[in-house]
This record gives sequence, structure tokens and C-alpha cells, in this order.
Amino acid sequence: MHDTLPHLNKMNFPAIKRGDLDTLQINIGLKCNQQCVHCHVNSSPKRTEMMSVETLSLVKSFLIKNNIQTLDITGGAPELHPGFKDLVSYATENNVHVIDRCNLTILSEPGMGDLAQFLAKNEVEIVASLPCYEEKNVDQQRGKGVFEKSIFGLKQLNSLGYGKAETNLVLSLVYNPQGPVLPPAQDELEKAYKKELLQKYNIEFNQLFTICNMPIKRFGSTLISNNQLSDYMMLLKESYRSKNLENIMCRQLISVDWQGNVYDCDFNQMLGLNMQESDAPMHIAELINTNINGHSISVRDHCYGCTAGQGSSCSGALAS
Ligand code: SF4
Ligand code: SF4
Repeated sequence: MHDTLPHLNKMNFPAIKRGDLDTLQINIGLKCNQQCVHCHVNSSPKRTEMMSVETLSLVKSFLIKNNIQTLDITGGAPELHPGFKDLVSYATENNVHVIDRCNLTILSEPGMGDLAQFLAKNEVEIVASLPCYEEKNVDQQRGKGVFEKSIFGLKQLNSLGYGKAETNLVLSLVYNPQGPVLPPAQDELEKAYKKELLQKYNIEFNQLFTICNMPIKRFGSTLISNNQLSDYMMLLKESYRSKNLENIMCRQLISVDWQGNVYDCDFNQMLGLNMQESDAPMHIAELINTNINGHSISVRDHCYGCTAGQGSSCSGALAS
């Protein structure tokens, strides 16, 4: 299902090209135990799409043949895929660093009792959304009861050593604004998060990433319904900073959907915007033996969401 929002023109966004590929991001399935307002993949408990065994096998080959440094696993809730643990184990055995985009509430879902221990044992980096340190705001954006469950998940991770300076277990939190505004400065907000979570809940974490809400999928539709879309697009464009182009994630990452089709990034995947502006998506099987360094990246208006203000991508503000 691809986004058909009318605002995503090929406007003036600068042409960008790929550098060396070091990260393979895969969307392993669209099923999620949550249904958040801002979700750009429209995930929910009702979605059933999942990466096949054959495609998972191609992902494993791709990691090795292309000397991939980082496997970034997203969803939905990626841990709901029955092949999640096998893939993580394979990657870590082959010295590929693994990132799990974890929504925290999954850690307390039925049948997930050993998940946190498994992640710790494999030294999986956890990147988890927590759009605020206030219960009311989190529940409003992500659903009733999500904050309490998230705190429970964070405590579980801390008890295993996640987020502690003396371990290799990295726990990063992700902040995105509640509505059509830019996120505040990452450094300042990180200090506030660290102070509040430590004082109120005795929770520690390593770093906070701030990201812009992308004007696509569920959030894009909400903007249209509220007649806020053109103002938000204007804000993103007016907040463009060219230096953010240097560190934009699509230069060293490709994003694979649950069917094995490959895109320049997760957002382009959701839009069905193919690599190199081709009419049909490329499949991971076709790319295993291809060097894509120097290839053009397909851009549209939504890319201003990556270059606005401090800039943002899957790994937070970009400014160095
Ligand atoms: S937890 Fe993540 S994948 Fe699941 S609905 Fe929320 S934003 Fe989407
Ligand atoms: S949305 Fe961001 S990461 Fe994706 S192609 Fe555009 S600039 Fe690159």
C-alpha cells in the first residue's frame, strides 16, 4: 500500500548521491502491538505482512557479501516476527552490529518474557520511542497505558545493564514532537529527559535522538484532515539547512521492505518511491552483487523532514 498524498512533488530538494553502504535496514513485518497516531508505516495489531523465510535468507547473504556493519531491524514491532531471534543470532555471530527498533511495550507482551535477556545476551542496541517523559503526552500519542508499560520495559532493560555507562548495552530513546512542529534542540532535551527519568523513575539511558514527524502515511493524513499540511510543509522547507545533507542517513543505508524490495530509506519505502526513480522496485536478490556507491537517491518534498532545523533521520539530529 503506497502513499498517494498529493503534496509530495519533486520540488527543489537538492540532488544527493550514495556513499559507501554500511547499514542494512529491514522492515521485517508490519504487525505491531501498538497503533500510534504518528506511525509512518500504519502498523497495528491487525497487520499480517511479514518477511518470508526466503527473503530472510537473502538478507543474511547480503550482510556477508556486502560487508555490512550494522543491521537495523524495524517493523511494526520487529520482535513479533518468528524469525527475529534467529536473524539476530546470525548477525551477531558474524560480527554485524544489530539495532532493534523496540517500542518497549513489546517487552511485557505475553510470550515475550525472555526477550530482554535475549537482546542483552546478543548485545543488541536498542532504539526506543518515548515521545515525552510525561505520561499524559505519551498516552495521547501512542495509546492509553503505553507510558506505564514503557517505564516497565525501561526498568527491565536497566536491570540487565542497558543504558549504564559501564556496559556495552546501548539504550537510546527517540523523541518526536506531538504535532506539526520541529523538535527542540537534541542536547537540551536529552538533559531534561535524563534528569526527569532518573529523578522520577530511576531510569538511565545513553542518548536521546530527536526526529521530525514525516508528512506521510498516518501523520500526513492527520495533517490533511486538520488542514495543517501546507503550513507544516512550509515550516520544513523554511527550516532547511544544507549542512544536514552531509550526514543524511540515505547516503550509507538501504531499506528493505517485508517483501524484499529495496529503497533509499524507510520513508521512500512507505511512499513506494523506487531507487534511481525506476518504475519498479529493485529486489534485494538483484542488489547482492551490485556496488551502489555513487548512485542517485530518489528525493521528494518529504526529504525536507530530514534537513529541517538540526536535521533528523532514524538516528536523530544530524548536525555535528
Ligand atoms: S510502536 Fe512504532 S511501529 Fe508500532 S504503531 Fe507505534 S510507531 Fe508504528
Ligand atoms: S527522506 Fe530523508 S533519508 Fe529518505 S531519501 Fe529523503 S533525505 Fe534521504
